[in-house]
Amino acid sequence: MKILVVNCGSSSLKFQLIDAVSEEIIAKGLCERIGINGSQMVYTPKGGEKKKTQAPMPSHVEAIQLVLDALTDAKTGVISSLSEIGAVGHRIVHGGEKFARATIITNEVMKAIEECSDLAPLHNPANLIGITACQKLMPKTPMVAVFDTAFHQTMPEEAYLYAIPYSYYEKYKIRRYGFHGTSHSYVSKKAAEVLGREYTTMKIIVCHLGNGASVSAVENGKSIDTSMGLTPLEGLIMGTRSGDLDPSIMEFIAHKEGKSVDEIMNVLNKESGVLGLSGGFSSDFRDLEDAYEAGQTASVRAMTAFAYRVVKYIGAYAAAMNGVDAICFTAGLGENSPLIRKLIGERLGYLGITIDAEQNNKRGEDTVISTKDSKVKVLVIPTNEELAIARETHCLIKIS
Ligand code: AMP
Repeated sequence: MKILVVNCGSSSLKFQLIDAVSEEIIAKGLCERIGINGSQMVYTPKGGEKKKTQAPMPSHVEAIQLVLDALTDAKTGVISSLSEIGAVGHRIVHGGEKFARATIITNEVMKAIEECSDLAPLHNPANLIGITACQKLMPKTPMVAVFDTAFHQTMPEEAYLYAIPYSYYEKYKIRRYGFHGTSHSYVSKKAAEVLGREYTTMKIIVCHLGNGASVSAVENGKSIDTSMGLTPLEGLIMGTRSGDLDPSIMEFIAHKEGKSVDEIMNVLNKESGVLGLSGGFSSDFRDLEDAYEAGQTASVRAMTAFAYRVVKYIGAYAAAMNGVDAICFTAGLGENSPLIRKLIGERLGYLGITIDAEQNNKRGEDTVISTKDSKVKVLVIPTNEELAIARETHCLIKIS
């Protein structure tokens, strides 16, 4: 069975067509600037050339139509008809407390996703638009929703509650949800596999370090804590997001700079993180690393603070689980940056961790980067959220 994995943003749509049995990517691509002038689709069939198509995409319906046309195109297509697509797996950002696992999409599920839009006003509406567009063009194909928050629904109350009046939790469901769940689940399982250990008896810390970044504590196969909260703003320092801070800072900036709440939120989401710490130099870790190596003060400051925050979370989660067997690095930065892993690893000696410098320089494959005698294993595991979504979708379709 072939599964189409769809990840819709407000003006973008990423897709992969995956063979559920061989787990091969048959085609992949991206539609950008949906609803804006200059829309284009980038499409790459397996073993073929990347092709860019400029075409108007006033909405996600036209974008999906272009994707389906490309997939079935006589020359560059990879399937002969849409009936070869057995199911569509949709990445949904927020499932609130309603969804602790992936689910087949029904009208009730659509309504429940809509009800969670309050919690993810930028993402859930876009995800819903993507589902509706696919349903319109593939009315008979089953659709599955896979939630970013679902894996973390196993967090205990003491980890997910904020110490604010409990009535806010009861009335508005203000609590910590966590994100990147598909990645944390995939990477932690894979780490157990690579180490030849039983997943359900391990204590694993996953560091998903990309433009958005989060750490999770996975004990016996269940997420028991994670660094993102009600929204993806909490936790680690990120590309442009501040991560943890004293909430009073908002009031302070409001008074000093005459900014509204919306303006301050924009600063915390878009102008902070390593971009802010580097004095506006860059949010891209490749730029920061080059400048760090050259000794540029602003980048040294940003990279050092970033690594320090990760080290603090690792310590907290080792304490929360009363130990740790393995620490995993994943996502753009975690997978590709020996430097950041070194900066973090050299502060973990108290856990009996030593990083093997040679192993740490490898890229793009599952690798144990700690030395043989390291008490806690440290691994690089490239994440694959699309494959994880395809697996969950296939699993649900098979049993339905
Ligand atoms: P993601 O959000 O997972 O796509 O990760 C994006 C982040 O990973 C960006 O800040 C990139 O600069 C960073 N990144 C990607 N490749 C590298 C690399 N080779 N070295 C350092 N950082 C990288």
